[in-house]
Amino acid sequence: MAASGEPGRQWQEEVAAVVVVGSCMTDLVSLTSRLPKTGETIHGHKFFIGFGGKGANQCVQAARLGAKTSMVCKVGKDSFGNDYIENLKQNDISTEFAYQTQDAATGTASIIVNNEGQNIIVIVAGANLLLNTEDLKKAARTISRAKVMICQLEITPETSLEALMMAHSNGVKTLFNPAPAVADLDPRFYTLSDVFCCNETEAEILTGLKVHSLADATRAALLLKGKGCHVVIITLGAEGCVMLSKTEPMPKHIPTEKVKAVDTTGAGDSFVGALAFYLAYYPNLPLEEMLKRSNSIAAVSVQSAGTQSSYPYKKDLPLHLF
Ligand code: ATP
Repeated sequence: MAASGEPGRQWQEEVAAVVVVGSCMTDLVSLTSRLPKTGETIHGHKFFIGFGGKGANQCVQAARLGAKTSMVCKVGKDSFGNDYIENLKQNDISTEFAYQTQDAATGTASIIVNNEGQNIIVIVAGANLLLNTEDLKKAARTISRAKVMICQLEITPETSLEALMMAHSNGVKTLFNPAPAVADLDPRFYTLSDVFCCNETEAEILTGLKVHSLADATRAALLLKGKGCHVVIITLGAEGCVMLSKTEPMPKHIPTEKVKAVDTTGAGDSFVGALAFYLAYYPNLPLEEMLKRSNSIAAVSVQSAGTQSSYPYKKDLPLHLF
């Protein structure tokens, strides 16, 4: 088992401001007129491979906004793993701690989508689940020198917790995205999160409350804050997000602009990656302004197809976002 060796192109000696400890998944997408029945073989009309996984998605968005980023992750020693590492490098992300293992395949999401947009998805997390605390130890210096560290739940909770503890004990701001959510989340995740950011479905699973409206999200945010997070953000799709912090003890709605959404897949990861960028590079900006800007960036991502392929670059965004 070895790290990919070559650090991201041009900045071996520089410190990563945003470190992501999380997942890489290869999306294998088949488009069909209808979904197959059990035991049936059908022909699809299009196939494509995409780069996904919440960790890498968030890292790519932060990097495209200009953040110096490092991805701590594990892929298989296989062609998907090689391609994924190349994709990280293409996005100027340091791959010094992008490990490759012989012991499992690169994480995959096999996706079948029919003409109505309905889908069947099988995720095999594979190598993502082998990222362990020994791997984190090797990246300890990079984690401890970062401004912001992001974690999600597509790797083992033990590894995510260890990464959060490492960052927290070194004064690195932690941004935790509890996705996919579990009802019995270890309570330490709340107290170790400087910023706890989830969507409505995740808020529902975590709180046991129904979250279908702004009022519901407000109640859920208060409950999550009560579990020990410093800042809670719940994203609300086209409605933007709601935030709650020490200085804003009552939940505040941050609406977003109306746009024509083409494909909202990965919008949440675009939002989280953008927020990490602002936390790292504009720490004195009021949180509300960071969230307005993160909304704007995620709103760009929903206006074109795909996940990482829809994430905007700094050069394509208005100056007032920087
Ligand atoms: P996904 O699972 O598709 O990645 P999510 O469910 O985690 O997304 P959402 O709450 O749907 O996350 O969206 C995240 C952010 O993306 C929102 O807070 C908002 O800023 C932006 N967004 C999502 N959908 C739209 C939309 N239709 N119009 C404008 N902005 C949107």
